[in-house]
Amino acid sequence: MPNLHNPLLVFTDLDGSLLDIHTLDWQPAAPWLMRLREAQVPVILCSSKTAAEMTQLQKTLGLEGLPLIAENGAVIQLDTRWEADPHYPRLITGASVEDILRILQKLREEGGYKFTCFAEVDDQAIADWTGVSRSQAGLAKLHIASETLIWRDDDAQMAAFSAALAQYGLRFMQGARFWHVLDQQAGKDKACRWLTEQYRQRERLDYTTLGLGDGPNDAPLLDCVDFAVVIKGLNRQGVTLRDDRPQRVWHTTQEGPNGWSEGLEHFLGPL
Ligand SMILES: [Mg+2]
Repeated sequence: MPNLHNPLLVFTDLDGSLLDIHTLDWQPAAPWLMRLREAQVPVILCSSKTAAEMTQLQKTLGLEGLPLIAENGAVIQLDTRWEADPHYPRLITGASVEDILRILQKLREEGGYKFTCFAEVDDQAIADWTGVSRSQAGLAKLHIASETLIWRDDDAQMAAFSAALAQYGLRFMQGARFWHVLDQQAGKDKACRWLTEQYRQRERLDYTTLGLGDGPNDAPLLDCVDFAVVIKGLNRQGVTLRDDRPQRVWHTTQEGPNGWSEGLEHFLGPL
């Protein structure tokens, strides 16, 4: 079992995990965030959101300066203390957002697929879709190596679209609310492994890793950590993990930030 006296890294999804899926509230997780900060345990946010949005969230959550995994792993923002790293400030994997948008436009012209990209709408539209403020919505558009879209076509077209993207080395991924297009080489799992290795090398400590997530798109992340918390969510399919033994995986009975705290309490003991 992990504990707060040994080196520990926490990787967490945001929407539906640390943040309430409807209200984006995180207060039920505040006592545990504080406890982890006291114990100097890095909490690494890991999401489909942009690095700009997540940097803002880090400030709100008291996690400033820590690394983060943005755009489903296509963008890793390094710890602010790692300026000497050749990748500083960010490690980008795969195609740029400009390349991805060009390919999306080409596919739409050829296949008549119906979808709306974040890049095609104004901040107010994104604020309406996501429930965030207009200024935060502007940050949601600052993609570096992926694009977020609303799919407006049928399942047959989706299969064809997904196959067409694969021809360009891109993947079509379902998130909590939207769909995401990113390079096939990028992923939350690869980003998690890379960061864990960075910590091991830099601190010369043998870190235990703990991950928390609520959706099928978190499965690769939850598969690559030592201990996993599957937070009860809205998704019908649930989350299927390769190693689902109860010693390694805890399925919470509560949702969102309450489930987040429940999972930490399960593995780390009461506050
Ligand atoms: Mg989620």
